[in-house]
Amino acid sequence: MNTQWLKFADNVKQLYGKEFVPLHEPTFNDKEVEYVTDCVKTGWVSSVGAYVNRFEEDLAKYVGVKRAVAVVNGTAALHIALKVAGVKAEDEVLMPSLTFIATANAVSYLGAVPHFIDVSFNTLGVDADKLKIYLKQIGKLQNNQLYNRETGRRISALVPMHTFGHAVDVEGLLQVCEMYNLTLVEDAAESLGSYYNGKHTGCFGKVSALSFNGNKIMTTGGGGAIVTNDDAIADYAKHLTTTAKVPHRWKYEHDEIGFNYRMPNLNAALGCAQLEKMPMFIQQKRELTEQYEQWLVNLDGVHLFKEPANTRSNYWLQTILLDERFNRDEVLDFLNEQGVMSRPIWTPMHHLAIYQNCPKSDLSVTEQLNKCVVNIPSTPISEG
Ligand SMILES: *Cc1c(COP(=O)(O)O)cnc(C)c1O
Repeated sequence: MNTQWLKFADNVKQLYGKEFVPLHEPTFNDKEVEYVTDCVKTGWVSSVGAYVNRFEEDLAKYVGVKRAVAVVNGTAALHIALKVAGVKAEDEVLMPSLTFIATANAVSYLGAVPHFIDVSFNTLGVDADKLKIYLKQIGKLQNNQLYNRETGRRISALVPMHTFGHAVDVEGLLQVCEMYNLTLVEDAAESLGSYYNGKHTGCFGKVSALSFNGNKIMTTGGGGAIVTNDDAIADYAKHLTTTAKVPHRWKYEHDEIGFNYRMPNLNAALGCAQLEKMPMFIQQKRELTEQYEQWLVNLDGVHLFKEPANTRSNYWLQTILLDERFNRDEVLDFLNEQGVMSRPIWTPMHHLAIYQNCPKSDLSVTEQLNKCVVNIPSTPISEG
């Protein structure tokens, strides 16, 4: 590692005014304190309350969907989104191997099987053209249902993920879904505030999942949401995430096996305050991108990943790509030693023992990205 890297590390530490710069931290001020304090004072801190309703309404408006259902975390949101989208046990669900474990786990919770597909260098998300060619090879349509010729299983859904906030090729994927009667469920956990062709991510799927974990662009402490334009789906998601209790003034009646997945009011109060700040967070993230771009001009063989054409990214996690002359782990060792917290991309799902036997396409781009992607500090920097 040379002096240019040392200079880069120093710049980052100076920018944040810290000797150790974390990858991503939440940002709070008086607003969060005000709403959370108010919530505590009302006594309604748990599973029902005004903040949950308000958060769901504000969120639906922000995303531009009819309905949002707030839940305990993004993984739970994905689990229920897939269930209400009609994914059944023994189905296969197409998804990138290059994703956070939650995408694959949510499919497994339903007894379904993740089927890993490759991503594109342009978006870091599912490659629609490659998927088209792949499904032509391995798929067959029977009664307008897609089956995997090799395993005999039905392939019912496609779950693209908007990596680090960069929108996938939604149009291309919608075409594939149309051709093969696949249900689109977006894992939009990382892309709150990101747009494809002027429309917010999460609007395109039949139903989509968001996350408000502590490291995401905004947080509710822990939390997630299911978003959809379909009222019946939203009602069913709400029912399933609230123990499938039949509404009644005093009687406990549950009409199916539901889940205790609802978001507590306390978390929703935090969420209401954070959501108000989204435009500011995004502006700060974009300024950070510009700053990094200026510095990285001086680093040969490294480039900053920028939003794909026709998209507007929330730039949740800043991403650099290293060319062949670099060893990813050496770069990671160096930056972390310097106090600039940096991370590789997730270990691809098909490399994990628990998912190594799942069906998969050629994953050569996934393998290449796995070797060259590094995330660098991404906390938005506030002026005051
Ligand atoms: C964060 C995240 C989730 C959900 O995570 P939770 O921690 O359960 O909120 C799901 N998918 C992806 C890609 C994520 O990054």
